[in-house]
Amino acid sequence: MRLRFGNLTPSPIRIKLPFPFILQFPIIPLIAFYLRSFCVNLRKFIFRYRFFLYLCRDMITIENIRKSFGDLEVLKGINLHIDKGEVVSIVGPSGAGKTTLLQIIGTLDRPDAGKVIVDGIDTSQLSSKKLSDFRNQHLGFVFQFHQLLPEFTALENIMIPAFIAGKSQKEARQRAKELLEFMGLSERAGHKPNELSGGEKQRVAVARALMNHPAVILADEPSGSLDTKNKEELHQLFFDLRDKMGQTFVIVTHDEGLAAITDRTIHLRDGMIEDDGTAKEPIVEEEEVSDAETGRL
Ligand code: ADP
Ligand code: MG
Repeated sequence: MRLRFGNLTPSPIRIKLPFPFILQFPIIPLIAFYLRSFCVNLRKFIFRYRFFLYLCRDMITIENIRKSFGDLEVLKGINLHIDKGEVVSIVGPSGAGKTTLLQIIGTLDRPDAGKVIVDGIDTSQLSSKKLSDFRNQHLGFVFQFHQLLPEFTALENIMIPAFIAGKSQKEARQRAKELLEFMGLSERAGHKPNELSGGEKQRVAVARALMNHPAVILADEPSGSLDTKNKEELHQLFFDLRDKMGQTFVIVTHDEGLAAITDRTIHLRDGMIEDDGTAKEPIVEEEEVSDAETGRL
């Protein structure tokens, strides 16, 4: 008897594909393409979202700062928020604690208690070494007296913070020249401080403060030693820097004219904030409004 296997011959395995096999090939690059563009868009979205967060965040947050010198309690619990791009003035009678507060924000002095967060960094957590790097890279200082080094030229004085940060001479020189140009002082690049006017020295000091692209410039009576014209030019410079570079400023001042034009004025008295300038504008009398609107004098 002959066995017939004819019917038992296995038939070839057929996989049923949704469309002809040859059309499967373009799908793989297509999926890869869509996957890639999805990733790119996701990255863009994350970047934009982070940028948005960056724009919104506080530049300085101070929580319950206290400071005493011996028995003298100079700061008695200061709370403060300063936004990125704000030009804020701190005013108050002599001895109110303005310089002490500015020095604590600038990490030049440590508080006895409380927290100082600058540019997203909690400075109370930093060691002394990290603090000096932080100051060099995140903060710029302008004092009443320029404190330029007398044996160096204007250009060299401006370059110093970049050298401390370990930047190359070429990079530092390029940035210092740009800053001098912004200040309208290109002609004075090779002059030493004793060959510059008071106003020019302060502008060089501002350029030096800007050298490492600081998050905040802290200024203590920056126009205290200037005449009216130079004072006004320096104040205008602060606002130009804010408008063109988004620079944040905290300025301790006795100058009522400057305080009046800053975005916010913080009043300090006896180591406490009397008014942080965030209260709404006072309601203007009806009569005054109508006078202002009609342009009557
Ligand atoms: P302001 O800048 O508002 O005039 P300061 O912050 O300089 O005031 O000083 C506030 C008070 O703290 C003053 O009475 C001052 O004498 C005192 N003070 C400031 N620094 C020191 C210090 N290093 N040692 C002792 N007392 C100080
Ligand atoms: Mg002071």
